[in-house]
Order: sequence, then structure tokens, then C-alpha cells
Amino acid sequence: MESIFKHCPNCTSTNIEFPNNVRFLCHDCGFTYFHNIAAAVAVVFRYQDKILFTVRNMEPDKGKLDLPGGFIDPEETAQEAACREVKEEMGMDIKPDQLRFITTYPNNYLYKNVPYRTMDIFFECELQEEQVHIVAPDEIKALQWYPLCEIPQERIGFVSVRTVIRQLKQK
Ligand SMILES: [Zn+2]
Repeated sequence: MESIFKHCPNCTSTNIEFPNNVRFLCHDCGFTYFHNIAAAVAVVFRYQDKILFTVRNMEPDKGKLDLPGGFIDPEETAQEAACREVKEEMGMDIKPDQLRFITTYPNNYLYKNVPYRTMDIFFECELQEEQVHIVAPDEIKALQWYPLCEIPQERIGFVSVRTVIRQLKQK
């Protein structure tokens, strides 16, 4: 994997190492930077036998199926982040106690050539109605419900989402 930094951001030396883009070290000035994993959340909305997917309208994986959610902000709990993202993307008010923890799964998120590694935290949320709306069209092209047994696995972008959906199908 090619290093995402060509120079030390502190002293501009090229005498640097950044194996696997995990721990950056400058051999001249000692500057150290950890490119730690980022935490993200995703919500599996259920209505009867169906699961709700978003169609991504931005890279990475533009046009592919995804779940509502996003990165956790500093100072936020995972549940708070999930509620905030759902509000931002779909205008829907949900409460942290409506979220049931499913599992976590690692993911890769390549954004503008920077390879972020994430830990995706998955929650489930039961809805009482099928009606949903997009309020962030720059991020989401469409919202689509699929019966669990008819979800097109090959249209799901992220490996973490693909894995969790496959696990739900096997239950
Ligand atoms: Zn340096």
C-alpha cells in the first residue's frame, strides 16, 4: 500500500515511514501520527419482512446499496450518532432506546485517495410504517425496501454491510 504522506508534515523530511498507513514516523524529527480506525454506525430499519437500503449518491461506492448511518462525531455515543445521521439523511426522529445492537464489523473507506479503516457498529430499528423520505439528496439517491430474502447482495457496496446482511439472512 502506498503511503498517503510523501513528506513529514512537521519538518518536510522524506526520511519517513508509514507501514500500511497505520503509524507514521519521521526519522529526522520524531513526529509520530497514528492513522487510527474511525468509528461509524449503520441502522438496519425493518418494516414487516423488509429492510431499508439507501442508494449512495457519493463516493466511495456511488450507486451501490448502503444503510443509513455515518461517522461518529467526537463526544458522541454510537446511539446518538445513529439518531443524528437518521435525522440528517431521512428527517426521521428516532430515540436511542429504539436501537437494538446487532454486531460490529471492520470496513475500508477510500475517500479522495485516503484509505480510512473503520469499525462499523450496526443497530436494528423496527418501523411502524413504510413511508420514508430523503432529506440529504447529495448523499442519498434513493431509498429502497427489500424483503430480506430478495436483497441483491451484489449491489451492496461495503464489505461490512454485505457481511451483516448475509448474517441476518441466515438467522
Ligand atoms: Zn519530521
